[in-house]
Amino acid sequence: MSARIIDGVALGKVIRQEVAAEAAALKARGITPGLAVVLVGENPASKAYVGSKEKACLEAGMHSVKVTRPAEITEAELLAIVDQLNTDPTIHGILVQLPLPKHINTERVLLRINPAKDVDGFHPVNVGKLVIGDPTALKPCTPWGVIQMLTRNGIDTKGAHAVVIGRSTIVGKPMANLLIQQGPGGDATVTVCHSRTKDLPAVVRSADIVIAAIGKAEFVTADMVRDGAVVIDVGINRVDDASLPKGYKLVGDVAYAEVAAKASAITPVPGGVGPMTIAMLLANTLQAVKQSS
Ligand code: NDP
Repeated sequence: MSARIIDGVALGKVIRQEVAAEAAALKARGITPGLAVVLVGENPASKAYVGSKEKACLEAGMHSVKVTRPAEITEAELLAIVDQLNTDPTIHGILVQLPLPKHINTERVLLRINPAKDVDGFHPVNVGKLVIGDPTALKPCTPWGVIQMLTRNGIDTKGAHAVVIGRSTIVGKPMANLLIQQGPGGDATVTVCHSRTKDLPAVVRSADIVIAAIGKAEFVTADMVRDGAVVIDVGINRVDDASLPKGYKLVGDVAYAEVAAKASAITPVPGGVGPMTIAMLLANTLQAVKQSS
């Protein structure tokens, strides 16, 4: 079998266009959706992510605010910025780019964000809403993007055995919670694997849908995947490649070529889940606007 490629660049573009159309309609009613991204320090990857988010926001016709502060900022100063954004009526979504410097308590900062503006979906109020199936939950962008990739590519999750590899707060756990919700994109039978799972290859081989969010380059090999499975690769890993000008390439958590030969559908890296994350951030901002007006 040769897998169908699930194209996250194309789908991300469609979602961003849908968001832009809705943002234009809101603007006509005098409401401009606004997203604030807070960047602390000089982490190059964080700077690049924040730049992409700002660009996507502007392209969708939204109001974008970027707050940058040096790594030496105190926690109290950062909390004051969050407080100010919480009460700013032109801002509907707030995202504090992680990781934060070690002297700042990340939990405390994320807890301070008004849950109604928590477009990353990391606040316990939104986590709780997601678990109980409350449709007003703002859902973490990466797993929510994976659900869009499945549903909009006609992949039925109902009754399917989905195996999620990874149990992080930002990907694995919300991914599993989304897949067990009732309704489209849910109703799956979900198994969550992690570093303590016994005989992980056997568990993954029993999956109709494999979702890899481990952070280990090409961890999922063809012998772990059954013929015809759908494989979603969330991983983004840098591996050295002296033949490239940059000296490295990006690969996922799945050994793409060999798994693509067995799977019925697969996401590439790059160009798979990655572009969906920003698209869902914009979609979440729109949801926050609609729920606030
Ligand atoms: P974390 O490091 O927070 O979590 C990794 C998970 O994988 C943990 O639950 C860990 O288990 C599990 N794990 C690690 N090694 C093994 C192993 N040998 N066998 C089984 N399970 C294992 O990573 P994230 O969830 O934040 O990210 C995962 C990947 O997704 C990364 O490559 C990251 O870059 C990428 N990512 C991509 C995004 C995108 O936009 N496409 C967004 C976010 C992340 P345990 O809990 O037991 O330690």
